[in-house]
Amino acid sequence: MEQETLALHHGYDKQAFGTMSVPIYQTTAYDFGSAETAANRFALKELGPIYTRLNNPTTDVLEARISALENGEAAIATASGQAAIFFAIANLAEVGDNILVAKKVYGGSTTLLTHTLKRFGINARVFESDHADDLEALIDNKTKAIFFESLSNPQIAIPNIEKIVAIAKKYNIITVCDNTVATPILFQPLNHGVDVSVHSASKYISGQGSAMGGLIVEAKNLNDKLIDNPRYPQFNEPDESYHGLIYATLPFPIFSLRIRLSLIRDIGATIAPFNSWLLIQGLETLSLRVKEHSRNAYKVAKFLSSHPKVLKVSYPGLESDPLHARAKQYFKEAQTSGLLSFEVKDLESAKQILNSTKIFSVVVNIGDSKSIITHPASTTHQQLSIEELEKSGIQAGLIRLSIGLENTDDLIEDLKIALG
Ligand SMILES: *Cc1c(COP(=O)(O)O)cnc(C)c1O
Repeated sequence: MEQETLALHHGYDKQAFGTMSVPIYQTTAYDFGSAETAANRFALKELGPIYTRLNNPTTDVLEARISALENGEAAIATASGQAAIFFAIANLAEVGDNILVAKKVYGGSTTLLTHTLKRFGINARVFESDHADDLEALIDNKTKAIFFESLSNPQIAIPNIEKIVAIAKKYNIITVCDNTVATPILFQPLNHGVDVSVHSASKYISGQGSAMGGLIVEAKNLNDKLIDNPRYPQFNEPDESYHGLIYATLPFPIFSLRIRLSLIRDIGATIAPFNSWLLIQGLETLSLRVKEHSRNAYKVAKFLSSHPKVLKVSYPGLESDPLHARAKQYFKEAQTSGLLSFEVKDLESAKQILNSTKIFSVVVNIGDSKSIITHPASTTHQQLSIEELEKSGIQAGLIRLSIGLENTDDLIEDLKIALG
């Protein structure tokens, strides 16, 4: 089945439940009915709901759908995108290990992976993801994961995914790709040899800026890569926290199972059933929305490139963009979401534009149906000096747009007036 159909029907048996909308199981716990059923569920002899921190029937549908949309084997939903990234990495790396992190990633991922994880004894080594020429030299036998974004937020870069995947394969290292901005509609990482995809579902999947959520999807062949791989003893040796269970011996997708049975069990950060339901609504129209966001952003990018006050536009979907060849290589119809950035001459002009737009909201978020305008130099990167900003590729006059679903004539008119 194709993505549009899967997004509407997969993982939910309408006839068995008799409702068109997936029911919200607003419950903490489940009645096992008998002592035997309870014992069997805990012993994994029978899979079924135990307690909502671990699993929930509404969340099951969300997990099944994203897994199908990403062409994966299994998925886990979490309370936020940050929790999804943390669990995916903590499932692979432990104290004394290192992970390789792309230079151009979401700010929250940089702080989590390079600063917070360091406090848990996991060290990040940053690689230049545009070409990945330095990646191989950073690998040693303690390297447990390679993390990158398929379309990075906010730099709007596309890494050399083919090369990253080839190097990871050579050393039997698991790759984790944050696919938040592209969504499975534009890019399916697992079809390109990536092992695990993660999402902030709070962005395009929600679509209306109304629910936080995270998703982790594992590839179809991931068990084969983990079983008997000396890099990952945690899947091949007894887990003392689960009466000596050896994940490698189980007939299930063990990457997600281990997250559920140990990390989600012990750390929580579980998604609320109501948020799972909201995200299921979001998935239903994801394909339509993402294509429309991309078409709208393309038109706005074209307008901005022809404006005399705009110094530079970054939008890989644009034929003239230096990343257009990569957009064509990886992204469906070379569409690259609603995210774009452009540069005006200085900080003052940028502020003036933010204060003059009527339709764009000044917000630090992306993927909402409503258009958003952000000025990184005065918000997310405020602490840096002008020179430091230039060095990190965030010019004082850089503006990021998340193009929504409004009529593009209105958006262009609004920007035209704001640019003056
Ligand atoms: C927003 C975002 C995250 C974090 O997700 P939350 O749901 O806000 O926790 C991670 N990665 C990317 C690319 C994001 O845009």
